[in-house]
Amino acid sequence: MTGLRHILPKNAVDAASLCYALLLIHNVIILGDFVVAPWMKEHYGTTDLQILWYNIYGGFVYINVIGNMWKIMTTNTSTIGKILPTLLKPGWHYCVVCEANGPPRSYHCPTCNRCILKRDHHCMFTGKCIGYFNHRHYICLICYTWLGAMFASTYCMGFTWTMLGEFSFYNLLCFCFPLFLLLFGMLDFYTAIICLLTLVATLFWFIITILIVWHSKHIIYNMTTHERRHNIYTYNLGWRENIKHIFGSKWYVCWLFPWIQSPLPGDGMSFPTSENFESQKDQ
Ligand SMILES: [Zn+2]
Ligand SMILES: [Zn+2]
Repeated sequence: MTGLRHILPKNAVDAASLCYALLLIHNVIILGDFVVAPWMKEHYGTTDLQILWYNIYGGFVYINVIGNMWKIMTTNTSTIGKILPTLLKPGWHYCVVCEANGPPRSYHCPTCNRCILKRDHHCMFTGKCIGYFNHRHYICLICYTWLGAMFASTYCMGFTWTMLGEFSFYNLLCFCFPLFLLLFGMLDFYTAIICLLTLVATLFWFIITILIVWHSKHIIYNMTTHERRHNIYTYNLGWRENIKHIFGSKWYVCWLFPWIQSPLPGDGMSFPTSENFESQKDQ
């Protein structure tokens, strides 16, 4: 499943979103290391040891962001390769596009063009669907991106405002609409790029905060976006079991590194419900 054809995004929007994310991440790193760090040394007397710590933190976040993106893109979370029954079982449905029976909680994704096990949503920044087997990596990806965006935003903010000068309405406009002002020759290219990167990192930080709050409900109640929209709490097994159904048996440590093995309790085809899980516990 890890052939290049399966990994690459399937449409132009996904491809553009992935390129945009990679460009942004790497440009912010270049800005931080080659522009802001020397400036901080000169103006704030930041020591080499402090810069080293920033780099260790940044490196750790970077490895987790890129690693989780890679894992989302290369993990098969579809019904491809699964033995599907020819007879429709209770809770299953027939997918007319795949011409096969799909298990409960699976849905067909028109972009991926396949049925996705426990489908949550299609992520355009990785060009892949988030389902049963890569949900853990998606949650880790947004959490580490949040840490990275927060760091990049606060790290570069002081430098950006020193470049712009003191706080004024005009400088605020420069910060919020740098490309617009560059277009009309009111801002030089270098300042515009610095403003743009800091602005985008800050915006990302806020957007991802909302995204984390939104997805935390899916973890706590073991639900997908579809189930949330329809108020379905059928698979809520209690917070500890719910976490295991996303992060696996090593849930307490697997978030540290994308390649830590953490087997999931199920096969993505059948799921214990709160009703039968409670009765199993009572036996
Ligand atoms: Zn399908
Ligand atoms: Zn998809």
